[in-house]
Order: sequence, then structure tokens, then C-alpha cells
Amino acid sequence: MSRPIVATIHSAALRQNLAIVRQAAPDSRIWSVVKANGYGHGIDRIWQHLSDTDGFALLNLEEAILLRERGWKKPILLLEGFFHSDELALLDRYRLTTSLHSNWQIKALAQARLSAPLDIYVKVNTGMNRLGFLPEQVHNVWQKLRALENVGEMTLMTHFAEAESAEGIVEPMKQVERAAEGLDCPRSLSNSAATLWHPEAHFDWVRPGIVLYGASPSGQWQDIASTGLKPAMTLTSDVIAVQTVKAGAGIGYGYRYHASEEQRIGIVACGYADGYPRHAPTGTPVMVDGVRTRTLGTVSMDMLAVDLTPCPQAGIGSKAELWGEQIKIDEVASSAGTVGYELMCALTPRVPVEVR
Ligand SMILES: *Cc1c(COP(=O)(O)O)cnc(C)c1O
Repeated sequence: MSRPIVATIHSAALRQNLAIVRQAAPDSRIWSVVKANGYGHGIDRIWQHLSDTDGFALLNLEEAILLRERGWKKPILLLEGFFHSDELALLDRYRLTTSLHSNWQIKALAQARLSAPLDIYVKVNTGMNRLGFLPEQVHNVWQKLRALENVGEMTLMTHFAEAESAEGIVEPMKQVERAAEGLDCPRSLSNSAATLWHPEAHFDWVRPGIVLYGASPSGQWQDIASTGLKPAMTLTSDVIAVQTVKAGAGIGYGYRYHASEEQRIGIVACGYADGYPRHAPTGTPVMVDGVRTRTLGTVSMDMLAVDLTPCPQAGIGSKAELWGEQIKIDEVASSAGTVGYELMCALTPRVPVEVR
């Protein structure tokens, strides 16, 4: 018998989530963002279930090459472009679209010997101050690139720092307009939040990530509860021990929880070494034997404690859902002071994964 923890990936949910993105942005093409190993789901496990997409966006060359080797012929976008000029030979060989955000990349592209031009996403910094040219530099950059033999189709790209709010994209959109002035350019601006909530930012290509995996870009499940988006991953394990403790007894490392009366406690085979957040405090929701209950005390490396008071029928062998269809990953994340993105990416390799 192996350890009972398992992450289940729901192929139907991935397909449905992509279809919902299509409905939300019917006039745009879709870059399905599968960076970070498909947000922790495993790019090799999920890409076929998202193959109705128009392209895949990611940032590791290894992941891009894997998709090509598996037979993906449509576009692949490198969201951060190339990190060193050496990589241009591989971009050429595997026909990868690259974002471009710095002057050294323009020089490298000009000097490269390619078999055919590469499609380019010119990244503009519209206020996030992470990557990209300033809007006032774009015209110049655009003309320089346009003149290069190595450059094929060009698209203007930006990334929003705060697309969850209504006002969050107003100023960046103005900056995009400024950058695009006098240029006849396709655009790609929208992450998941803008894809769901800002149709005026859709343009030619949208770039959703988190919604494909069925979690909320705002971190609040309520914000996407009515969209039909479905969690693509369920993390489950079993109760492997039961303790009946007396009033006042401490539970787990540091005795961070004390029973106020006699209490039944279940020990679940899941801990931070599986990717469950150690910062999840007492009270983080968990489903045991079909009943919603809560964690108790400090999460250990390999185990955590749950309150069996609401589910007296539960015992050794009862199923616990840590997150998934019943317990949204957003709820666990917000209890632990983070977002669903971080939890799904942090699932560790020791957790067996099943695709259904
Ligand atoms: C990660 C990423 C996205 C997707 O963001 P979500 O919030 O997951 O939709 C889109 N564009 C860029 C440049 C990114 O890095």
C-alpha cells in the first residue's frame, strides 16, 4: 500500500475552462498560458486537453521543445523572450514566437543567422515596471525591428499589474494607445482577469492562465463562481489516524491548537512537503468524508490534523479533500495568506498525479 495522497487532474474541466474563455473573448485568439509546468498540473499531462487553443504561452525553452516534440505545430510564445543570444538557434529550429523587451535582444536578433524570420511580441511597460520598453520608445523600437530580415509578424504586448479591478487597466490602456500611435499593430494585452472582466482589452490575442485551471485571478472564488469555470485539480488524501483528546490537550508542533473540550481529531497524510501551505492556520477548510470541517494546529511536513467534530462517522480511511471541487483552492490560499496560483505551482513531485 502506498501513501494515500493523490492529485487528480480533470481533463473535462480543462476543456470546459478553455471553452468558457472562448465564449468570454469570442473575437480573439487564445494563448493558453502553461508556464511553470502548466501551473503545477504538468504540461505534458494537460496540453492535449487544451489543444483547442490557438497557441501555448510559456517561458522555459525545455517546455516549448517538449510541446514541439509531442507534435504541437501551432504557435508557441515565449513570454519572457530569450535569456541569452545562444538560444536564438533553438527559437529558429523550433519556430518559437518570442517576446522582446530589451535593446540587447534587438541587437542579438539583428546579428543572428536564422533559417526564416521569427514572429515577435514587442513588450511595452505600461506601468508594472517589470519588463518592456516605455511607450514613448515603442515607435523607434518598432521601426528598428521592422527593418530586420529576421523579424516576421509583430504584435504589441503588455501585462497588467491590476486587472482585477475596474480602474486597474485604465491608465495602462492609455499607455498602450500611446505606444501604438501611428502603428498598425495587432495587440495582446489580457491575462485571465482582463479576459473575464475587460472586453475592451481583448484585441487580437488574449493570454489567460489561471482561469484555465479553474481558480480565480482575484484570489476570491466568489468572483468566478457564476462563470462555470471548474477546478482542474483535486488534492485528496486519507485520514490515517484518529485521536480522541481531552479538553486542554495540545495538537501538533508548538501546540498551536488546544482542544476546548473532548474532541476527535483526524490525522491526514498531507503536509507541506506535498505542497500544502504550512502557513494555513487552524480553521482552514477541508472536506472529510463529504463534510466540510477545518484544520487544527500547525501543518507538519507530512501530516496535518483535522477536526472530526462535524463528521463523527469519519475514521481511519476516510477521504479528505484538501482542495478541488468542494474546497476551492482559492479558499485554502486566502486562509494561508496567498493565492491559488502559488498553491497549484507548489504541488511537489512526490505527490502522485492521476489524469481523469
Ligand atoms: C502568467 C502570465 C499570464 C497569465 O496570467 P493569469 O493571471 O494566470 O491569467 C499572461 N501574460 C503574461 C505575460 C504572464 O506572465
